[in-house]
Amino acid sequence: MRIWLSLLLFLAAPARTETILLRPAQVFDGEAMHPGWQVLVDGDRIAGVGPSLAMPAGGRAIDLPGATLLPGLIEGHSHLFLHPYDETPWDDQVLHEPLALRTARATVAARATLMAGFTTARDLGTEGAGYADVGLKMAIEQGIVPGPRLLVATRAIVATGAYGPKGFEAGVVVPLGAEEADGPGIVEAVRRQVGRGADVVKFYADYRWRAGEPSRATFSETELAAGVAAAHDAGRKVAAHAATPEGMRRATLAGVDTIEHGSEGIAEVFKLMAARGVTLCPTLAAGDAIARYRGWDGAEPAPASVLAERHSFALALAAHVPMCVGGDVGVFRHGDNAREMVLMAKAGMPPIDVLRAATAGNARAFGLSDRGRIAPGLLADLVAVGGDPGRDMAAVRAIRMVMKGGAVVRLEGATSPPSP
Ligand SMILES: [Zn+2]
Repeated sequence: MRIWLSLLLFLAAPARTETILLRPAQVFDGEAMHPGWQVLVDGDRIAGVGPSLAMPAGGRAIDLPGATLLPGLIEGHSHLFLHPYDETPWDDQVLHEPLALRTARATVAARATLMAGFTTARDLGTEGAGYADVGLKMAIEQGIVPGPRLLVATRAIVATGAYGPKGFEAGVVVPLGAEEADGPGIVEAVRRQVGRGADVVKFYADYRWRAGEPSRATFSETELAAGVAAAHDAGRKVAAHAATPEGMRRATLAGVDTIEHGSEGIAEVFKLMAARGVTLCPTLAAGDAIARYRGWDGAEPAPASVLAERHSFALALAAHVPMCVGGDVGVFRHGDNAREMVLMAKAGMPPIDVLRAATAGNARAFGLSDRGRIAPGLLADLVAVGGDPGRDMAAVRAIRMVMKGGAVVRLEGATSPPSP
């Protein structure tokens, strides 16, 4: 029985025995831009990178004139089980959409993410869709549906009473967007989620207790520290949703690996994050999208909420906080993942630093040593874009080719045919 199962899995996986020489105008290797370099791919791995690479016998070339070849981009903060809030408000997605509908939509979101050049995504919570992300990850790994390599958080963990949907008669049992836990129960929740498939553990370190209220810290530092210790014991990194200085401070002192949003961050807290090596995922794109859903037309001056996020981002940059690229995609359209990169550059981060953050930086922050750079032996996850995103960040939207594990999954304007 086992033998047959293995055989079926093998048959479902795409063939990956090709040798391909990629010839772009320049290569960004995760650190620096190298004009005139090429990349050699053998099977699912990078075999070589540099100038004047020789074409091995039996290999084929893909010419990418005018293009920049980059490591496959890494989405740092997605919700594949959400879709844009201007289509359906978050509450209605959680309360009314059947799990099968949400899962079917998530497969389309996964495909859009991959085709946008994001070959890995850290998905930070199914928002009421239970453990469906674990199954989606399996479907991608088995070649049933196309998508990025996933790190999934499953349900995420919130303090009792903190999370929504809200506003119902107190006796009504409402399906929630995350799992509630408190005190010693936090350790149990971490272990349960890891046991059921979580690759990363997510806590909500602050939240608004009622609609219209400002966010306040939820878990105590002691609660967070116990949860972080349980996750780290299991070899999982920890992401903390935190927008307030107090939530961010507690999460940092508790030892989390990344802080999501940080939109009300202050210099003192960013200094603490930098000292402890905690990475910030600023999610500027989510704030941008929500402001537009509320009527902003994109003209300057931007609304106060957008200006506040830019300000806290500038403080984080000045404090040299390690930066993650992750836009909270799902709030806005899957496939528009590059929106976060464009907004980070617009808010003052040099484009080359944004590229580093979206590749080698995210790989380092998420503990992925097999990707994020172009170097021999690493996974052949690559993306080619038209133009030079090191000068103009918007070039990352001009996808020319996407390769995942040595297989070409998208090729535009080909001078050589794609893989069969
Ligand atoms: Zn999120």
